[in-house]
Amino acid sequence: MVPGDVVLMGPPGSGKGTQAKLSAGEPGWVHISTGDLFRKHLREGTPLGRLADGYMSKGRYVPDDVTVGMVRERMREIRRDERVVFDGFPRTIPQAEALEKLLGELGRRVAGVLLIEVDREELAARLARRGEGRADDSPEVARKRFDVYQEQTRPVVDHYERKGLLRRVPGVGSVEDVHARLRAALG
Ligand code: ADP
Repeated sequence: MVPGDVVLMGPPGSGKGTQAKLSAGEPGWVHISTGDLFRKHLREGTPLGRLADGYMSKGRYVPDDVTVGMVRERMREIRRDERVVFDGFPRTIPQAEALEKLLGELGRRVAGVLLIEVDREELAARLARRGEGRADDSPEVARKRFDVYQEQTRPVVDHYERKGLLRRVPGVGSVEDVHARLRAALG
């Protein structure tokens, strides 16, 4: 893959967050997770955190302008020689368009999009197991998150596929297996 930033995508329960954190340990790469940024705001009790929580706790997406504004701010801290893995962003077509504009302004671009693929039954089983830990993983909220993903984020997958940027990576097997496949896809 030619140098540039990378978007990591996958439905809720695909292991995307775990994989993005593994990649974050690699020298020269910076991990930007919008979910983590919202949770940090929430812990710190900022107005943005409280606003985001109203959506997250229901399994809904935070409004695009809020999300894009937060990413724009975070990008001010990124050096030119660092490469970014975007985790959980963009999740909607307007976010994808905003990201292209923002990266363009900064002389950057999306070099590739990695989609971690896991079938629906396996996803449901994983989310049920994870349900004990996270407030937004109760069965009802998990279902909602899956539906919202299908409705709003599948079109983003199609968008990147049309641009020839999408690489599909099977999300089954151990964390290390999936990580090795992602590394190979990064080239
Ligand atoms: P996942 O477990 O699916 O990786 P995340 O930790 O990325 O979940 O995100 C948790 C929640 O934060 C989402 O369900 C959503 O409410 C909110 N969120 C995260 N990223 C975005 C985004 N790009 N746009 C809107 N809402 C977002």
